[in-house]
Amino acid sequence: MSRVAAKSNKLSNFIGGQWIESSTDQYLDVPNPATGELLAEVPISTSEDLEKAVEAAKQAFSSWKKVAVPQRARILFKYQQLLIDHWDELAKLITIENGKNYSEAYGEVQRGIECVEFAAGVPTLMMGSQLPDIATNIESGMYRYPLGVVGGITPFNFPMMVPCWMFPLAIATGNTFILKPSERTPLLANRLAELLTEAGLPDGVFNIVHGAHDIVNGILEHPEIPAVSFVGSQPVAEYVYKTGTANGKRVQALAGAKNHTIVMPDADMDLTVTNIINAAFGSAGERCMACAVVVAVGDIGDELVNRLVEEANNLTIGNGLEEGVFLGPVIRDAHRDRTLQYIESGIEEGAALVRDGRNDQSSSEGGYFVGPTIFDHVTQEMKIWKEEIFAPVLSIVRVNTLDEAIQYANKSEFANGACLFTDSAKAIRHFREEIDAGMLGVNLGVPAPMAFFPFSGYKKSFYGDLHANGRDGIEFYTRKKMLTARHSY
Ligand code: NAD
Repeated sequence: MSRVAAKSNKLSNFIGGQWIESSTDQYLDVPNPATGELLAEVPISTSEDLEKAVEAAKQAFSSWKKVAVPQRARILFKYQQLLIDHWDELAKLITIENGKNYSEAYGEVQRGIECVEFAAGVPTLMMGSQLPDIATNIESGMYRYPLGVVGGITPFNFPMMVPCWMFPLAIATGNTFILKPSERTPLLANRLAELLTEAGLPDGVFNIVHGAHDIVNGILEHPEIPAVSFVGSQPVAEYVYKTGTANGKRVQALAGAKNHTIVMPDADMDLTVTNIINAAFGSAGERCMACAVVVAVGDIGDELVNRLVEEANNLTIGNGLEEGVFLGPVIRDAHRDRTLQYIESGIEEGAALVRDGRNDQSSSEGGYFVGPTIFDHVTQEMKIWKEEIFAPVLSIVRVNTLDEAIQYANKSEFANGACLFTDSAKAIRHFREEIDAGMLGVNLGVPAPMAFFPFSGYKKSFYGDLHANGRDGIEFYTRKKMLTARHSY
């Protein structure tokens, strides 16, 4: 046991405030996706490791739930300051293990910090409600309590922001937490744990068990874990939701996406092109709020496509730590291969490949790069329209009216986000009323809500009831007690 996250490049689990070597003999390589260089080895932990974490979290819960709420908030204030102090270091770590460029990583740290700031408002957020006179001499009140040991399972694409959607609110409300980070980006999580210790969080309140499917299943089946937050791909989210709820748990499972951006003929073309390029190719398209499909309305199609191709031709591809690099690698060589297969399928199904990123040069050797790729004249029968590619591949669809565009977007199985570029108040209102998606953007490309609002996907982009963040997050991590009392005076 040690207070140090990793002595060699083999990562340890964080259990009960200690760095504990996994009992496994299976480790997975964690390469830097921009260079292929080995960064670390992550343990594929065992049920024995998970059991230790649950025991530690359970023990810590008995005292943590009684720590005064303002005191829990003070630890989060300290943590927020530590994250600010380590901003640059955290951003670099994100770029190294995930591949997104430094400025995107810097922005991700900011989104994580905002979650901590929101959670530090817990004394107000966790308040109940009372009615003094529900009948003569009888009062009634609602009080909020934590649930116990909460599990969190996270994806590779936001190694800081997504865990921060979960644990700050979960621990602020008095729960203890076990994080199973993505096995593809496990390094940042360990750093978050070290800083939590530095902020004064008691041992066992936050734990990390690294690993893959088996730990997910262990969390979903464990009788001592009443609630699970999940973020990841659609099939896994559906599985997590069904298995977790079948085991009597409260589950929120945020899933994949295929976000549509509608461009009206009156849109400001410069603003539109800049925002679409960022939303489609930023973070190598590996964002659940990425723009995957542009729906061009009316006669602006040709101009829009030409402008997008022109801008895409100017993007610098390489290691995200290098100055001026816009487009980093995708996460793994297997994901690159999968992306190339999607590009093949788009060509076979008859879409017009107007920008081919398959052979683009990168300034970094050994990484998993795909250049910006654009298909025009995409239709709903094509795989590249139906499925989430999660890479820098943009599809363009052409329609005649706003109604047609909205109907097009609404046919997608996914419904995380949707955007509209226009100057028309009438179009904006029509879009807001008729579009079937949970997070809407007008004249901007990535409408991800801030921490005090819910992250509110629909359809196959979300399984559950209460979303992550905002008041939904407080509801998710607490349960209520109703007290009705008769007074004899
Ligand atoms: P993923 O589903 O492969 O992995 C997510 C987590 O589930 C990881 O911790 C992984 O270890 C675990 N996992 C993977 N396969 C599993 C299985 N068969 N059984 C049990 N556990 C399993 O997702 P990813 O590739 O890491 O992340 C990208 C996906 O996440 C994309 O689909 C993206 O849209 C989605 N995402 C959604 C949101 C949102 O808010 N809706 C946010 C971020 C990412």
